[in-house]
Amino acid sequence: MVKPVIVIGAGICGISTAIWLQRSNFEVVLLDKAEPGMGASYGNAGLLAQWAIVPVNEPSLWKQIPRYLIDPMSPLFLKWSYLPKLTPWLIKFLQNANRSGSNRTIEALIPLLTDSVEQHKSLTEGTAAANWIADSKFSYAYRSLEDFHKDSFGWECKKKVGMVPEIFTGNLVQDVEPICGSFIDCLAVISGQGHIVNPQGYIRELMKVFSQNGGKFINAKVEDFGFQNEKISTVHTDNGQFECDRAIITAGIWSKELMLKLGLNIPLEAERGYHVVYKNASILPRNPMMMTIGKFGVTPMGSDLRCAGTVELGGIKLGPSKAPIKLLRRRVAEAFPKMSYDKTEEWFGFRPTVPDSLPLIGQLKESGVYTAFGHQHIGMTSGPKTGRLIADIINQRSPNIDISVYDPNRYNL
Ligand SMILES: Cc1cc2nc3c(=O)[nH]c(=O)nc-3n(C[C@H](O)[C@H](O)[C@H](O)COP(=O)(O)OP(=O)(O)OC[C@H]3O[C@@H](n4cnc5c(N)ncnc54)[C@H](O)[C@@H]3O)c2cc1C
Repeated sequence: MVKPVIVIGAGICGISTAIWLQRSNFEVVLLDKAEPGMGASYGNAGLLAQWAIVPVNEPSLWKQIPRYLIDPMSPLFLKWSYLPKLTPWLIKFLQNANRSGSNRTIEALIPLLTDSVEQHKSLTEGTAAANWIADSKFSYAYRSLEDFHKDSFGWECKKKVGMVPEIFTGNLVQDVEPICGSFIDCLAVISGQGHIVNPQGYIRELMKVFSQNGGKFINAKVEDFGFQNEKISTVHTDNGQFECDRAIITAGIWSKELMLKLGLNIPLEAERGYHVVYKNASILPRNPMMMTIGKFGVTPMGSDLRCAGTVELGGIKLGPSKAPIKLLRRRVAEAFPKMSYDKTEEWFGFRPTVPDSLPLIGQLKESGVYTAFGHQHIGMTSGPKTGRLIADIINQRSPNIDISVYDPNRYNL
Protein backbone atom coordinates (compact mmCIF):
# COMPACT_ATOMS: atom_id res chain seq x y z
CA MET A 1 0.00 0.00 0.00
CA VAL A 2 1.32 3.49 -0.88
CA LYS A 3 1.72 5.51 2.30
CA PRO A 4 0.97 9.24 2.44
CA VAL A 5 3.82 11.74 2.50
CA ILE A 6 3.97 13.51 5.86
CA VAL A 7 4.67 17.26 5.79
CA ILE A 8 5.62 18.69 9.20
CA GLY A 9 4.71 22.34 9.67
CA ALA A 10 1.96 24.31 7.93
CA GLY A 11 3.71 27.62 7.25
CA ILE A 12 4.25 28.90 3.72
CA CYS A 13 6.96 26.28 3.06
CA GLY A 14 4.85 23.37 4.33
CA ILE A 15 1.60 24.26 2.60
CA SER A 16 3.40 25.00 -0.69
CA THR A 17 5.21 21.65 -0.49
CA ALA A 18 1.95 19.86 0.31
CA ILE A 19 0.13 21.37 -2.69
CA TRP A 20 2.99 20.68 -5.12
CA LEU A 21 3.12 17.05 -3.93
CA GLN A 22 -0.63 16.73 -4.48
CA ARG A 23 -0.10 17.91 -8.05
CA SER A 24 2.23 14.95 -8.48
CA ASN A 25 -0.56 12.68 -7.23
CA PHE A 26 0.83 12.02 -3.78
CA GLU A 27 -1.49 11.58 -0.86
CA VAL A 28 -0.35 14.13 1.71
CA VAL A 29 -0.88 14.47 5.46
CA LEU A 30 0.05 17.90 6.83
CA LEU A 31 0.81 18.16 10.54
CA ASP A 32 1.10 21.27 12.67
CA LYS A 33 1.28 21.72 16.41
CA ALA A 34 -0.74 24.94 16.07
CA GLU A 35 -3.16 26.60 13.69
CA PRO A 36 -1.68 26.68 10.15
CA GLY A 37 0.19 29.82 9.20
CA MET A 38 0.69 31.15 12.71
CA GLY A 39 4.52 30.89 12.80
CA ALA A 40 6.77 33.34 10.95
CA SER A 41 4.38 33.08 8.01
CA TYR A 42 1.77 35.02 9.98
CA GLY A 43 3.38 38.35 10.74
CA ASN A 44 5.81 39.00 7.91
CA ALA A 45 5.68 42.03 5.63
CA GLY A 46 4.14 39.98 2.80
CA LEU A 47 6.75 41.18 0.33
CA LEU A 48 7.53 38.93 -2.62
CA ALA A 49 11.11 40.02 -2.28
CA GLN A 50 12.56 39.10 -5.67
CA TRP A 51 15.11 41.84 -4.98
CA ALA A 52 16.32 40.36 -1.64
CA ILE A 53 19.30 38.60 -3.18
CA VAL A 54 21.86 40.23 -0.86
CA PRO A 55 21.89 38.53 2.56
CA VAL A 56 22.18 40.35 5.91
CA ASN A 57 25.74 39.04 6.27
CA GLU A 58 27.06 41.04 3.32
CA PRO A 59 30.60 42.49 3.31
CA SER A 60 29.71 45.90 4.81
CA LEU A 61 28.23 44.26 7.93
CA TRP A 62 31.65 44.42 9.61
CA LYS A 63 31.80 48.21 9.16
CA GLN A 64 28.32 48.63 10.58
CA ILE A 65 28.71 46.44 13.67
CA PRO A 66 30.24 49.12 15.97
CA ARG A 67 27.35 51.49 15.20
CA TYR A 68 24.80 48.71 15.61
CA LEU A 69 26.17 47.92 19.06
CA ILE A 70 26.06 51.45 20.46
CA ASP A 71 23.31 53.25 18.54
CA PRO A 72 19.85 52.64 20.10
CA MET A 73 18.29 53.66 16.74
CA SER A 74 20.10 50.95 14.78
CA PRO A 75 17.89 48.16 13.35
CA LEU A 76 20.02 45.33 14.78
CA PHE A 77 19.39 44.28 18.39
CA LEU A 78 20.96 41.71 20.66
CA LYS A 79 19.66 40.02 23.79
CA TRP A 80 22.97 40.11 25.65
CA SER A 81 22.03 37.24 27.99
CA TYR A 82 21.78 35.01 24.90
CA LEU A 83 25.25 35.91 23.59
CA PRO A 84 27.07 32.83 25.01
CA LYS A 85 24.62 30.50 23.22
CA LEU A 86 24.67 32.60 20.08
CA THR A 87 28.46 32.90 19.73
CA PRO A 88 29.25 29.72 17.71
CA TRP A 89 26.53 30.59 15.17
CA LEU A 90 27.51 34.27 15.12
CA ILE A 91 31.13 33.47 14.34
CA LYS A 92 30.10 31.28 11.40
CA PHE A 93 27.55 33.90 10.25
CA LEU A 94 30.18 36.65 10.31
CA GLN A 95 32.71 34.41 8.52
CA ASN A 96 30.38 34.59 5.52
CA ALA A 97 30.26 38.41 5.61
CA ASN A 98 32.92 38.86 2.92
CA ARG A 99 32.94 39.20 -0.86
CA SER A 100 33.33 35.53 -1.68
CA GLY A 101 30.81 34.32 0.93
CA SER A 102 28.26 36.92 -0.15
CA ASN A 103 28.77 36.29 -3.83
CA ARG A 104 28.21 32.58 -3.34
CA THR A 105 24.99 33.23 -1.40
CA ILE A 106 23.79 35.80 -3.93
CA GLU A 107 24.40 33.43 -6.86
CA ALA A 108 22.43 30.74 -5.02
CA LEU A 109 19.55 33.05 -4.04
CA ILE A 110 19.04 34.48 -7.54
CA PRO A 111 17.32 31.38 -9.02
CA LEU A 112 15.28 30.88 -5.86
CA LEU A 113 13.96 34.43 -5.70
CA THR A 114 13.84 36.27 -8.97
CA ASP A 115 10.76 34.54 -10.42
CA SER A 116 8.82 34.45 -7.13
CA VAL A 117 5.76 36.38 -8.24
CA GLU A 118 5.32 33.89 -11.10
CA GLN A 119 5.90 31.00 -8.68
CA HIS A 120 3.11 32.22 -6.38
CA LYS A 121 0.80 32.60 -9.38
CA SER A 122 1.66 29.13 -10.52
CA LEU A 123 0.97 27.67 -7.05
CA THR A 124 -2.45 29.33 -6.89
CA GLU A 125 -3.53 29.11 -10.54
CA GLY A 126 -7.28 28.58 -10.88
CA THR A 127 -7.93 28.94 -7.12
CA ALA A 128 -9.26 31.70 -4.89
CA ALA A 129 -5.82 31.92 -3.25
CA ALA A 130 -4.63 33.81 -6.36
CA ASN A 131 -6.69 36.80 -5.20
CA TRP A 132 -4.27 37.36 -2.32
CA ILE A 133 -1.36 38.08 -4.66
CA ALA A 134 -0.92 41.67 -5.82
CA ASP A 135 1.29 42.95 -8.63
CA SER A 136 3.17 46.00 -7.46
CA LYS A 137 6.18 48.21 -7.78
CA PHE A 138 8.62 48.36 -4.90
CA SER A 139 10.46 51.38 -3.50
CA TYR A 140 13.57 51.62 -1.39
CA ALA A 141 13.05 54.79 0.67
CA TYR A 142 16.22 56.72 1.61
CA ARG A 143 16.78 59.84 3.65
CA SER A 144 18.95 61.22 0.85
CA LEU A 145 20.40 60.48 -2.58
CA GLU A 146 23.75 60.13 -0.83
CA ASP A 147 22.35 57.25 1.25
CA PHE A 148 21.15 55.59 -1.97
CA HIS A 149 24.70 55.84 -3.37
CA LYS A 150 26.08 54.27 -0.17
CA ASP A 151 23.96 51.22 -0.98
CA SER A 152 25.89 50.65 -4.22
CA PHE A 153 26.92 47.04 -3.47
CA GLY A 154 23.29 45.92 -3.27
CA TRP A 155 22.24 47.89 -6.35
CA GLU A 156 25.18 46.57 -8.40
CA CYS A 157 24.04 43.04 -7.53
CA LYS A 158 20.43 43.81 -8.46
CA LYS A 159 21.52 45.43 -11.72
CA LYS A 160 23.13 42.14 -12.77
CA VAL A 161 19.68 40.52 -12.69
CA GLY A 162 18.03 43.40 -14.52
CA MET A 163 16.68 45.38 -11.57
CA VAL A 164 17.57 48.97 -12.33
CA PRO A 165 15.68 51.51 -10.22
CA GLU A 166 14.06 54.74 -11.24
CA ILE A 167 15.27 57.45 -8.86
CA PHE A 168 13.04 60.19 -7.47
CA THR A 169 14.32 62.95 -5.18
CA GLY A 170 12.99 66.09 -3.47
CA ASN A 171 9.34 66.95 -4.17
CA LEU A 172 9.07 64.11 -6.68
CA VAL A 173 9.12 61.69 -3.75
CA GLN A 174 5.68 62.93 -2.64
CA ASP A 175 4.37 62.70 -6.21
CA VAL A 176 5.28 59.01 -6.26
CA GLU A 177 4.30 58.23 -2.65
CA PRO A 178 2.11 60.96 -1.13
CA ILE A 179 2.36 59.24 2.28
CA CYS A 180 6.04 60.24 2.62
CA GLY A 181 7.06 63.36 4.51
CA SER A 182 10.23 65.36 3.90
CA PHE A 183 12.25 62.89 6.04
CA ILE A 184 12.38 60.71 2.91
CA ASP A 185 14.26 62.52 0.17
CA CYS A 186 14.98 59.69 -2.24
CA LEU A 187 13.00 56.76 -3.62
CA ALA A 188 14.57 54.03 -5.75
CA VAL A 189 11.65 52.32 -7.48
CA ILE A 190 11.69 48.95 -9.23
CA SER A 191 8.81 47.63 -11.33
CA GLY A 192 7.49 44.11 -11.87
CA GLN A 193 7.31 43.13 -8.20
CA GLY A 194 4.50 41.77 -6.02
CA HIS A 195 3.20 41.30 -2.51
CA ILE A 196 0.73 39.27 -0.50
CA VAL A 197 -2.29 41.29 0.53
CA ASN A 198 -2.56 39.46 3.86
CA PRO A 199 -0.28 36.53 4.74
CA GLN A 200 -2.72 34.92 7.19
CA GLY A 201 -5.60 35.11 4.71
CA TYR A 202 -3.34 33.69 2.00
CA ILE A 203 -2.29 30.65 4.05
CA ARG A 204 -5.90 30.01 5.08
CA GLU A 205 -6.92 30.03 1.42
CA LEU A 206 -4.02 27.72 0.50
CA MET A 207 -5.20 25.34 3.25
CA LYS A 208 -8.62 25.26 1.59
CA VAL A 209 -6.97 24.38 -1.73
CA PHE A 210 -5.06 21.59 0.04
CA SER A 211 -8.17 20.09 1.62
CA GLN A 212 -10.26 20.48 -1.57
CA ASN A 213 -7.55 18.42 -3.29
CA GLY A 214 -8.13 15.66 -0.71
CA GLY A 215 -5.33 16.62 1.70
CA LYS A 216 -5.60 15.83 5.38
CA PHE A 217 -4.54 18.36 8.03
CA ILE A 218 -3.97 17.04 11.57
CA ASN A 219 -3.26 19.13 14.62
CA ALA A 220 -0.27 17.27 16.08
CA LYS A 221 3.14 18.10 17.52
CA VAL A 222 5.88 15.95 16.05
CA GLU A 223 8.07 14.55 18.82
CA ASP A 224 10.22 11.87 17.22
CA PHE A 225 10.86 9.66 14.22
CA GLY A 226 11.15 5.90 13.69
CA PHE A 227 13.49 4.23 11.18
CA GLN A 228 13.83 0.80 9.60
CA ASN A 229 17.03 0.00 7.70
CA GLU A 230 18.02 3.69 7.88
CA LYS A 231 14.82 4.74 6.13
CA ILE A 232 12.04 6.66 7.83
CA SER A 233 9.07 4.47 8.76
CA THR A 234 7.10 6.47 11.35
CA VAL A 235 6.50 9.99 12.60
CA HIS A 236 5.63 10.12 16.31
CA THR A 237 3.38 12.90 17.58
CA ASP A 238 1.36 13.88 20.63
CA ASN A 239 -1.67 12.88 18.55
CA GLY A 240 -0.66 9.43 17.37
CA GLN A 241 1.90 7.74 15.17
CA PHE A 242 1.94 8.01 11.37
CA GLU A 243 3.48 5.45 9.04
CA CYS A 244 5.34 6.82 6.05
CA ASP A 245 8.18 6.31 3.58
CA ARG A 246 8.76 10.03 3.24
CA ALA A 247 8.53 12.99 5.60
CA ILE A 248 9.34 16.64 4.92
CA ILE A 249 10.51 18.93 7.73
CA THR A 250 9.07 22.39 7.07
CA ALA A 251 8.91 23.57 10.68
CA GLY A 252 10.69 26.92 10.30
CA ILE A 253 12.84 27.77 13.33
CA TRP A 254 11.51 24.72 15.19
CA SER A 255 13.13 22.48 12.56
CA LYS A 256 16.27 22.73 14.70
CA GLU A 257 14.71 20.66 17.50
CA LEU A 258 13.33 18.12 15.02
CA MET A 259 16.77 17.78 13.43
CA LEU A 260 18.22 17.18 16.91
CA LYS A 261 15.82 14.22 17.23
CA LEU A 262 17.56 12.86 14.14
CA GLY A 263 20.92 13.39 15.86
CA LEU A 264 21.78 16.39 13.67
CA ASN A 265 22.81 19.71 15.21
CA ILE A 266 22.09 22.28 12.51
CA PRO A 267 23.35 25.83 13.19
CA LEU A 268 19.91 27.36 12.82
CA GLU A 269 19.26 30.60 14.70
CA ALA A 270 16.32 32.94 14.99
CA GLU A 271 16.59 36.40 13.51
CA ARG A 272 13.75 37.77 15.56
CA GLY A 273 11.63 40.34 13.75
CA TYR A 274 8.78 42.62 14.80
CA HIS A 275 5.76 44.23 13.24
CA VAL A 276 3.43 47.09 14.04
CA VAL A 277 0.13 47.23 12.17
CA TYR A 278 -1.53 50.64 11.94
CA LYS A 279 -5.23 49.83 11.77
CA ASN A 280 -7.43 51.79 9.42
CA ALA A 281 -4.66 54.15 8.35
CA SER A 282 -5.75 57.54 6.96
CA ILE A 283 -3.25 57.23 4.11
CA LEU A 284 -1.51 54.21 2.61
CA PRO A 285 1.50 53.86 0.33
CA ARG A 286 0.57 53.14 -3.30
CA ASN A 287 3.12 50.32 -3.36
CA PRO A 288 5.15 48.49 -0.69
CA MET A 289 8.42 50.07 0.40
CA MET A 290 11.61 49.26 2.29
CA MET A 291 12.49 51.90 4.88
CA THR A 292 16.25 51.57 4.56
CA ILE A 293 16.96 53.62 7.67
CA GLY A 294 15.11 51.23 9.99
CA LYS A 295 15.41 48.14 7.75
CA PHE A 296 11.71 47.35 7.71
CA GLY A 297 9.11 46.71 5.06
CA VAL A 298 5.99 48.84 4.73
CA THR A 299 3.05 47.12 3.10
CA PRO A 300 -0.54 48.24 2.53
CA MET A 301 -2.85 45.42 3.68
CA GLY A 302 -6.51 46.30 3.07
CA SER A 303 -7.14 49.46 5.07
CA ASP A 304 -4.17 48.78 7.35
CA LEU A 305 -0.48 49.56 7.10
CA ARG A 306 1.91 46.80 8.19
CA CYS A 307 5.45 47.81 9.10
CA ALA A 308 7.59 44.71 9.66
CA GLY A 309 11.30 44.15 10.06
CA THR A 310 14.34 44.81 12.31
CA VAL A 311 16.64 42.01 13.43
CA GLU A 312 17.10 40.92 17.03
CA LEU A 313 19.39 38.03 17.94
CA GLY A 314 18.16 36.33 21.09
CA GLY A 315 16.90 32.79 20.47
CA ILE A 316 13.27 31.74 20.75
CA LYS A 317 12.74 31.34 24.49
CA LEU A 318 13.07 34.97 25.64
CA GLY A 319 10.01 37.19 25.27
CA PRO A 320 9.72 40.23 22.98
CA SER A 321 11.76 43.41 23.61
CA LYS A 322 10.46 46.95 23.67
CA ALA A 323 13.31 48.61 21.75
CA PRO A 324 12.61 47.20 18.23
CA ILE A 325 8.94 48.20 18.46
CA LYS A 326 9.95 51.65 19.69
CA LEU A 327 12.31 52.00 16.74
CA LEU A 328 9.62 50.94 14.25
CA ARG A 329 7.11 53.40 15.71
CA ARG A 330 9.57 56.27 15.72
CA ARG A 331 10.74 55.72 12.16
CA VAL A 332 7.13 55.41 10.94
CA ALA A 333 6.20 58.69 12.66
CA GLU A 334 9.18 60.41 11.04
CA ALA A 335 8.57 59.00 7.56
CA PHE A 336 4.76 59.31 7.44
CA PRO A 337 3.88 62.43 9.47
CA LYS A 338 0.46 62.85 7.83
CA MET A 339 -0.79 59.36 8.71
CA SER A 340 -3.38 58.88 11.46
CA TYR A 341 -4.95 55.55 12.43
CA ASP A 342 -7.43 53.97 14.82
CA LYS A 343 -5.12 51.72 16.81
CA THR A 344 -2.02 49.53 16.47
CA GLU A 345 -1.17 45.85 16.85
CA GLU A 346 2.27 44.43 17.65
CA TRP A 347 3.82 41.02 16.92
CA PHE A 348 7.19 39.31 16.91
CA GLY A 349 8.36 36.15 15.18
CA PHE A 350 11.37 34.07 14.21
CA ARG A 351 13.17 34.04 10.87
CA PRO A 352 15.08 30.74 10.60
CA THR A 353 18.66 31.45 9.49
CA VAL A 354 21.78 29.34 8.97
CA PRO A 355 25.26 30.92 8.70
CA ASP A 356 25.41 30.87 4.89
CA SER A 357 21.86 32.34 4.67
CA LEU A 358 20.76 29.57 2.30
CA PRO A 359 17.76 27.34 3.03
CA LEU A 360 18.20 23.59 3.43
CA ILE A 361 16.23 22.01 0.58
CA GLY A 362 16.77 18.33 -0.21
CA GLN A 363 16.93 14.82 1.20
CA LEU A 364 19.01 13.83 4.23
CA LYS A 365 21.20 11.16 2.65
CA GLU A 366 18.84 8.38 1.44
CA SER A 367 16.67 8.48 4.58
CA GLY A 368 13.34 9.51 3.07
CA VAL A 369 13.50 12.60 5.33
CA TYR A 370 13.55 15.83 3.33
CA THR A 371 14.16 19.35 4.60
CA ALA A 372 12.68 22.65 3.46
CA PHE A 373 13.56 25.20 6.12
CA GLY A 374 16.05 27.97 6.88
CA HIS A 375 14.51 30.64 4.64
CA GLN A 376 15.66 33.63 6.74
CA HIS A 377 14.08 36.87 5.42
CA ILE A 378 12.74 35.38 2.21
CA GLY A 379 10.45 32.47 3.20
CA MET A 380 7.18 34.07 2.12
CA THR A 381 8.83 34.90 -1.19
CA SER A 382 10.41 31.53 -1.92
CA GLY A 383 8.05 29.07 -0.17
CA PRO A 384 6.20 28.09 -3.38
CA LYS A 385 9.39 27.48 -5.36
CA THR A 386 10.80 25.51 -2.44
CA GLY A 387 7.73 23.29 -2.44
CA ARG A 388 8.06 22.77 -6.17
CA LEU A 389 11.73 21.80 -5.80
CA ILE A 390 10.90 19.25 -3.11
CA ALA A 391 8.22 17.72 -5.35
CA ASP A 392 10.77 17.57 -8.20
CA ILE A 393 13.39 15.92 -5.96
CA ILE A 394 10.92 13.30 -4.71
CA ASN A 395 9.77 12.61 -8.27
CA GLN A 396 13.39 12.35 -9.38
CA ARG A 397 12.79 15.14 -11.90
CA SER A 398 15.79 17.39 -12.45
CA PRO A 399 14.86 20.96 -11.52
CA ASN A 400 16.10 23.53 -14.05
CA ILE A 401 18.31 25.16 -11.42
CA ASP A 402 21.37 23.94 -9.50
CA ILE A 403 19.95 22.69 -6.22
CA SER A 404 23.24 21.38 -4.82
CA VAL A 405 23.75 24.79 -3.15
CA TYR A 406 20.76 24.13 -0.89
CA ASP A 407 21.80 20.55 -0.04
CA PRO A 408 21.05 19.92 3.66
CA ASN A 409 23.93 17.43 3.79
CA ARG A 410 26.39 20.36 3.53
CA TYR A 411 26.27 20.58 7.32
CA ASN A 412 28.55 17.54 7.57
CA LEU A 413 25.74 15.06 8.07
C1 LIG B 1 9.13 40.61 10.93
C2 LIG B 1 9.28 39.67 9.77
C3 LIG B 1 9.08 40.14 8.47
C4 LIG B 1 9.25 39.29 7.38
N1 LIG B 1 8.94 39.74 6.13
C5 LIG B 1 9.07 38.91 5.05
C6 LIG B 1 8.69 39.34 3.77
O1 LIG B 1 8.20 40.45 3.57
N2 LIG B 1 8.87 38.49 2.72
C7 LIG B 1 9.38 37.23 2.90
O2 LIG B 1 9.57 36.51 1.93
N3 LIG B 1 9.70 36.76 4.14
C8 LIG B 1 9.54 37.58 5.22
N4 LIG B 1 9.86 37.12 6.46
C9 LIG B 1 10.39 35.76 6.61
C10 LIG B 1 9.29 34.73 6.50
O3 LIG B 1 8.21 35.09 7.30
C11 LIG B 1 9.82 33.35 6.91
O4 LIG B 1 11.02 33.05 6.22
C12 LIG B 1 8.80 32.27 6.55
O5 LIG B 1 7.52 32.60 7.06
C13 LIG B 1 9.22 30.90 7.08
O6 LIG B 1 8.19 30.02 6.73
P1 LIG B 1 8.20 28.51 7.21
O7 LIG B 1 7.07 27.85 6.57
O8 LIG B 1 9.57 27.96 6.99
O9 LIG B 1 8.05 28.61 8.82
P2 LIG B 1 6.82 29.03 9.74
O10 LIG B 1 5.90 29.96 9.07
O11 LIG B 1 7.42 29.49 11.03
O12 LIG B 1 6.03 27.69 9.94
C14 LIG B 1 6.52 26.61 10.70
C15 LIG B 1 5.32 25.81 11.19
O13 LIG B 1 5.81 24.60 11.78
C16 LIG B 1 4.99 24.31 12.89
N5 LIG B 1 5.74 23.42 13.79
C17 LIG B 1 6.89 23.70 14.43
N6 LIG B 1 7.33 22.65 15.15
C18 LIG B 1 6.43 21.65 14.94
C19 LIG B 1 6.32 20.33 15.41
N7 LIG B 1 7.23 19.79 16.25
N8 LIG B 1 5.25 19.59 15.02
C20 LIG B 1 4.32 20.12 14.18
N9 LIG B 1 4.37 21.38 13.71
C21 LIG B 1 5.42 22.14 14.08
C22 LIG B 1 4.71 25.68 13.49
O14 LIG B 1 3.57 25.65 14.35
C23 LIG B 1 4.52 26.53 12.25
O15 LIG B 1 3.17 26.60 11.85
C24 LIG B 1 9.67 37.95 7.58
C25 LIG B 1 9.84 37.47 8.89
C26 LIG B 1 9.65 38.30 9.97
C27 LIG B 1 9.81 37.76 11.35
